[in-house]
Amino acid sequence: MMRTVQLARNQPLHLAGQPIKSVYFPLTAVISFVCILEDGHGAELCAIGSEGMAGLPAVLEARSTPFQMTAQIAGTARQLPAKVLSDEVARCVPFQARLLSYQQAFLDQIAQSVACGRHHSISQRMATWLLTTSDRASSACIPMTQEMLGFILGVTRPRISLTAEAFQKAGLIRYFRGIMTIVDRAGIEAEACECYQVIHDEYARLQLI
Ligand SMILES: [Zn+2]
Repeated sequence: MMRTVQLARNQPLHLAGQPIKSVYFPLTAVISFVCILEDGHGAELCAIGSEGMAGLPAVLEARSTPFQMTAQIAGTARQLPAKVLSDEVARCVPFQARLLSYQQAFLDQIAQSVACGRHHSISQRMATWLLTTSDRASSACIPMTQEMLGFILGVTRPRISLTAEAFQKAGLIRYFRGIMTIVDRAGIEAEACECYQVIHDEYARLQLI
């Protein structure tokens, strides 16, 4: 039933409004939960790595979501038919409790990102994104184009480019051939907004990491 699959970068896993057929537990991949607007603009709502699962609405009997799931960082994930997981959740109380904890953390992360997007600067948000994605991917090297990062953070590519350049000049990251590498993690932590630590602490409090 459960199998390991290789997810390619930008591979769509679930389209908005469609029934969720499979759920994914990322191993090395990072899955992005994104909102795409009518005019084509969009933003990432939440990144999902080995701490969580993609496809929560299927298990909660909602069966679909108006948002899209896409592999943001290529890698492996465990894939399971949504119905199998749904049946298992109905049968196993400890598993239900675990999933509810994850749902809580997931909602907390999205709620924090709303305030973050309104009040924190691009450089703070990019630093937070670098730390979170590095944690999710268990790697300091993050394959990411500036265009895609602009989409994820909901800002224009030139603003991403300027911020990445400033980070590079300060010796915080290296950006080469589409790969962002954190070379000074403490420096990036100093640039990040409080949102990174708030979400990190919440996942830790709920014993998800
Ligand atoms: Zn923030």
